[in-house]
Amino acid sequence: MLRLIVLGSGDAFGSGGRNFSGFLLTDGNFHVLLDCGPSTLPALKAKGLDPAQVKMILVSHCHGDHFGGIPFFFIDYQFISERSSPLVIAGPEGIEQRCDDLIRAAYPDILKAHKWRFQVRYMELMPGEDVREGDITIETFAMEHGAIPARGYRIGWKGVKVGYTGDTRWTTEIPRLARGCDLLLCECFFFQEDHHSHIRYTDLAFHRGELDAKRIVLFHLGPEMMQHMDRVELEVAHDGMVMEIDSP
Ligand SMILES: [Zn+2]
Ligand SMILES: [Zn+2]
Repeated sequence: MLRLIVLGSGDAFGSGGRNFSGFLLTDGNFHVLLDCGPSTLPALKAKGLDPAQVKMILVSHCHGDHFGGIPFFFIDYQFISERSSPLVIAGPEGIEQRCDDLIRAAYPDILKAHKWRFQVRYMELMPGEDVREGDITIETFAMEHGAIPARGYRIGWKGVKVGYTGDTRWTTEIPRLARGCDLLLCECFFFQEDHHSHIRYTDLAFHRGELDAKRIVLFHLGPEMMQHMDRVELEVAHDGMVMEIDSP
């Protein structure tokens, strides 16, 4: 059995007071983070979880609301939890450079004075290439989110499959990603407004029959989506929500 903890279910604007994107998938020993927004570390600590148990940070795309929290994990590992085990950061091509630039901009003085006490291994995940990391498998899907590379993932761990779209407009890759998932976390920024880089709820309602996932939970809710919650029939995530995912 796995547990999925919603650390942040909101958009890039803090709409509705929701935290930035961040989800923690855990088997009780190790944690995998699906995205790491600027509020992810405090949300994780509010749940009494240990950041040093995060084995991997899986980044959907390098927008601030999805990876902007990584520098805070680095300084926590350096000065508070004193991590010694290696950390894996996986994401689209260019992930290492983007993280390096971000950490350098956030804490140049610390980088100058210290060497990180833990090893970091970066992995670039390409669509169609399946990757195994310990007992976790990651299948990668190309998402469509403006001009930067964006990925969706299907994670297989302990007999359970979890799908995660990150940010994307509707694409036929989403039904492929959803296939066989015990849980699908699907972004839904808009209710009905057409946009080149985000899903609207009306797309999901129209394509609902194509989504072969046992449970679908929406996140990344924008202001227009939140104004129409009375018309939303799919389940919606909220910060702090905990989902138990059993193997079939
Ligand atoms: Zn976003
Ligand atoms: Zn984005």
